[in-house]
Amino acid sequence: MKSASGTTRKSIQKISPIDVYKLLPKTNCGECKEANCMAFATRLVNGELFLSGCPPLFTEKYARAREALEELMEPPVRAVTFGTGKNAVTIGGKYVLWRHEFTYHNPTAVAIDVHDQMTPDELVQRVGSIAQFTYNYIGRTLNVNAVAIRSVTKDPAAFAAAVRSVAGATDLPLILCTLDPAVMKAGLEKARDSRPLIYAANGDNWSAMADLALEAGAPLVVSAPGDPALLRSLVRTLLDCGVNDLVLDPGTFAGAGLPETISTFTDIRSQACRQFDELFGFPLLGLPLAVWTGDEISEDVLKWKEAVLASMLMSRYADILIMHSLDGWVLLPQLIWRFNLYTDPRKPVSVEAGVKPFGRPDKNSPVLVTTNYALTYFTVESDIKAANLDCYLIVADTGGLSVESAVAGRIFTAESIATALKDYSIAGLVDHTTLIIPGLAARLSGETEEATGWKILVGPKDSSGIPQFLREHWRTEH
Ligand code: SF4
Repeated sequence: MKSASGTTRKSIQKISPIDVYKLLPKTNCGECKEANCMAFATRLVNGELFLSGCPPLFTEKYARAREALEELMEPPVRAVTFGTGKNAVTIGGKYVLWRHEFTYHNPTAVAIDVHDQMTPDELVQRVGSIAQFTYNYIGRTLNVNAVAIRSVTKDPAAFAAAVRSVAGATDLPLILCTLDPAVMKAGLEKARDSRPLIYAANGDNWSAMADLALEAGAPLVVSAPGDPALLRSLVRTLLDCGVNDLVLDPGTFAGAGLPETISTFTDIRSQACRQFDELFGFPLLGLPLAVWTGDEISEDVLKWKEAVLASMLMSRYADILIMHSLDGWVLLPQLIWRFNLYTDPRKPVSVEAGVKPFGRPDKNSPVLVTTNYALTYFTVESDIKAANLDCYLIVADTGGLSVESAVAGRIFTAESIATALKDYSIAGLVDHTTLIIPGLAARLSGETEEATGWKILVGPKDSSGIPQFLREHWRTEH
């Protein structure tokens, strides 16, 4: 497949650092904080840096090289941003079909719906609940990203009032949902300058919706439920009209049409990433709230159906979801699944290495050591905090590997523990020389005593046993 300029497009895995290096200024000026241009090129190809990290590229002198680089590095699925300021959401920007091929960028945005039959008080209350929905998961804050305002009344004035209420109550990005251009126009007037996502243009209203999107400078969803050929045709037409920021809604069918839904999402993303199909190279929108339009009457059944559908769509390439349920048991699995799906598989999730004091440690307090794998660290932290222990915890840099893996890989060793003791000046923190190592690193105890000169106690294999371990061993053995 050729790019717009006629060059043959390459998948990200086939772009070498040399391809990029050739187009960089090659001055090794260091403004990017990398050792040289080649180091920058390598990290750019790895997806760890962006072109914007090289300021000289954005000068007149390198304008042509920058354009060539932008084309070379352009993801097959375009990135689309809606909202403004710190809460703006970017969706899409995907390079690959499978996460193990590279990594996924721009986690699936989750929006929760409100509608224009709600009173202003109800709107403000629900929007407050949406904004406050946060969860701390291994040190990361998980939350929802946007509010979708649906026109149920089909009345422009009612929709405008609802948009005004929501916009006044939150700075989360908005999605305005109506197929009626007159209603959309009224809503957009109350969301000026906030770059909402417009839902949606279809086979009947595309011309008027295109005008509204251009006028508002806002991205537009293209909707053709169950008809990929129409979707493709609408995308071509809207691009010809100058609307370039598009999001695709191929249709979400919650009942018997579910297999077709998943298959269509997969086909579209596959064509974008494998064949560089530019008409399908846009973010995908899924509507788990479609379950609420069925004839199921049990709310709990509807909620679990919505939860399952959301997970399926997120797994099969949805870049944004509009949901209805705000219950923790429905939303949290989605947010945790999203976190894991969008974690770079090449990099274990880690925390900063160092020494962490807990409670009010003094010169006689215990010193424990663990690794900087995030899940390990936060589990140990949680167990120490739950027991109100006063202690020091050395977090050794194992590149984000767990204790067992780091011991097996000879990364968590007697020498690395000795280095951590020295680097973090532990001898200056306490008046004793006793160190508690994790039970899973028991085999390091002898060599660690030799390498450090400290007495080594082998702690429990599971950090939940730390409080009891300290009760039984600390006062008597150190
Ligand atoms: S800022 Fe650009 S030109 Fe300077 S070293 Fe980095 S990549 Fe090279």
